[in-house]
Amino acid sequence: MRVVVIGAGVAGMAAARTLHHNGVEVVVLEARQRLGGRVWTDTSLGIPVDLGASWIHGFVPENPIARVAEELGVKTCPTPLEQILLRGPGGQVLTEVGGWMFSLMGLLSMRSAEWLREGKKDVPVSACVEEVFETLSVPEDLKERLLLWTRATFANYMAAEMDEVSLKYFDDDEEFPGEHRVFPEGAIQLVERLAEGLDVRLGHAVSAVEYDGDGVRVICAQEVFRADAAIVTLPLGVLKAGAVTFDPPLPDWKQKAIQRLGMGSLDKVILRFPRQWWPDEAVLAIQPTDELPVFSSFISLTHCFDEPMLMTFLGGQRARVWTRRPNEEIVARAIQDLRTVFGAEQVPDPTDVFVTRWDHDIFSRGAYSFVPAGGTPEDFEQLAKPVNDRLFFAGEATIRPYYGTLHGAYVSGLREAERVLALLTDRTAVSV
Ligand SMILES: Cc1cc2nc3c(=O)[nH]c(=O)nc-3n(C[C@H](O)[C@H](O)[C@H](O)COP(=O)(O)OP(=O)(O)OC[C@H]3O[C@@H](n4cnc5c(N)ncnc54)[C@H](O)[C@@H]3O)c2cc1C
Repeated sequence: MRVVVIGAGVAGMAAARTLHHNGVEVVVLEARQRLGGRVWTDTSLGIPVDLGASWIHGFVPENPIARVAEELGVKTCPTPLEQILLRGPGGQVLTEVGGWMFSLMGLLSMRSAEWLREGKKDVPVSACVEEVFETLSVPEDLKERLLLWTRATFANYMAAEMDEVSLKYFDDDEEFPGEHRVFPEGAIQLVERLAEGLDVRLGHAVSAVEYDGDGVRVICAQEVFRADAAIVTLPLGVLKAGAVTFDPPLPDWKQKAIQRLGMGSLDKVILRFPRQWWPDEAVLAIQPTDELPVFSSFISLTHCFDEPMLMTFLGGQRARVWTRRPNEEIVARAIQDLRTVFGAEQVPDPTDVFVTRWDHDIFSRGAYSFVPAGGTPEDFEQLAKPVNDRLFFAGEATIRPYYGTLHGAYVSGLREAERVLALLTDRTAVSV
């Protein structure tokens, strides 16, 4: 049997590796000139800078990606979980927000369960956030600013605005307990280890996939690859754009699911400074003005990377608006906000900067998926369903409990490899 895997991100690598280890001939076609997809480690400064995924969320043995990282000897580093102080202009500490955000999300989650239980019409999370907010004891003079900070921070988590995300399903996913860990040598190490021994063709952008009773033909500019089956790990944004054609077209139910799900926007701005000028805290939360903050939090990378770097995020609409502007403008705003809070004399100019633009990347077209108001997480399941036992679908947007994550992408790749293997034999235990 021969299988073509489309895409060399985490999902594609997990699928290809499993098939390869089970004796299946597998070739991976990757459009970019690099492995990893939304795992992208830049090393131009001589240090690993992760421009896509950074964290394994929930580093426990039950998390398959944590397990495989350990097996493959990939280094990870726990990021400190401590209180997060929200600072305003002049460094004034407004409140502690880590625990507070946790309580708010818990209350929203209860509201979400109520909506589901009572069969109410879905609404965006924003429809009830102010009401939920009222039930938390927040000093009157802080309310407005805290609500604005929460809106920005929510968009950084979900890659979409409270006005877009479904209240009923924003909390439908499952989480692994345990600490969150980053990759001190870059997340790409994980993908590279997964790819060892595999036939991966970089620079092979697939333009079309044809399938029928005889098999599949996967068409690239260089070559037409014939196989018995294809595992498609194209990002949701790429599927939405119709950048790869399918012949016959994908069934209606799958196309509808693709269109209904949301592809979120999230970008990173990473600043390297001549020295660590900030307090020794893992997360610097800021609310420099009375408006929606452009940058609500800066993560210190000093702890695991031993470099004076701060990483901040543009989520949802802020990503869509700000990434149309030049890097200089984006960085100037970040520095201005930091100086408003920590003092102009305190914050030097950065020596190096990185700004991502995932929405503008034609092989990603967004950051990761979400359920918009009116949508349903069953759409993730529809996306995962095979077509005619020829086309199989993996990737972060095909796995309902873990969508939008590295572990979700990984598990989806294993799932589809197992599905293909089950077609081959009646084996149920598959070695990975
Ligand atoms: C900024 C950002 C931060 C994130 N942070 C985290 C985090 O900290 N923790 C976490 O768990 N998750 C995080 N995520 C999500 C995580 O990166 C993704 O869920 C995961 O990497 C998706 O893997 P995938 O294999 O499904 O897709 P991808 O990695 O996108 O792989 C799909 C591959 O298909 C290729 N491709 C596209 N078009 C074609 C074509 N026509 N022909 C051939 N190949 C094609 C792409 O180039 C890509 O390599 C983050 C994502 C972003 C964008």
